[in-house]
Amino acid sequence: MKRTIERVFKGMPEHWVGNGFHVSNYFPAATDFEKRMSPFFLLDYQKPEEYEPTTMKRGVGTHPHRGFETVTIAYQGSVAHHDSAGNGGVINPGEVQWMTAGKGILHNEFHEASFAKKGGILHMIQIWVNLPKKDKLAIPNYQALTNSSIAEVALSRDLGLVRVISGAYEETKGPARTFSPAHMLDLRLKPGAKVRLPTPKDYNTALLVLQGKVKANGSAAVSEGEFILFKNDGDEVIVDSVTDSIVMFLSGAPIEEPLVHYGPFVMNSVDEINQAIEDYNSGKFGHLKD
Ligand code: MN
Repeated sequence: MKRTIERVFKGMPEHWVGNGFHVSNYFPAATDFEKRMSPFFLLDYQKPEEYEPTTMKRGVGTHPHRGFETVTIAYQGSVAHHDSAGNGGVINPGEVQWMTAGKGILHNEFHEASFAKKGGILHMIQIWVNLPKKDKLAIPNYQALTNSSIAEVALSRDLGLVRVISGAYEETKGPARTFSPAHMLDLRLKPGAKVRLPTPKDYNTALLVLQGKVKANGSAAVSEGEFILFKNDGDEVIVDSVTDSIVMFLSGAPIEEPLVHYGPFVMNSVDEINQAIEDYNSGKFGHLKD
């Protein structure tokens, strides 16, 4: 049965993250909910935007995270990152970085140096995926999901691709290891494509249109920058692409636990937030220079 639509909305007015990411927040800020998209906690979207060439570092310097995972997806432009667990790399178009902050990590995120020097369009998403209480203090980890590792399912009649980042589409599983069920699908659709996406009824489910125009479960056409939140009243979403489109589809099992958020920390209690601040201030997240 098709889910009905709970809400269609646009993101908040853009704000700067450091000096390199001009993002619009879709949740929790834009929607005034913290749990309706659980296990996904936050979505920041950098729409395609031209950056002038620079030899300066552009992005966000060293900062901490604890209690969740950051997932960074590049569509255009390249982002370099380093973290206090010793990991680092470059996220190129089509690639995904899945970082488990767990018990605490420091990292920085900058436009990759040669991209910054040349200038060009940056288009990306960052999603925070919450961790269940039992995994909040997991060992920090990092998964670089390159283009060759992301599973791709071609739609019939050459009408596009479903790129499976995490979870599954039909029989095809994505490469990301997750702590709780979380399906993240990158849809690249041509006009006339129709994709049926099964979702367990209790999973929180939504999509963001990044490019083009689509209809979903019989909606009016929604276009770039519009986000559809579905009710948890059915087990499928059917996306019909009107134009060439790019869509991010999210569906995951809610984490039914208390949640307390303070800046870069997402925990279960105020005490745990205070502990995170204390541990960060006393150097327990490690050390990292920009
Ligand atoms: Mn970060």
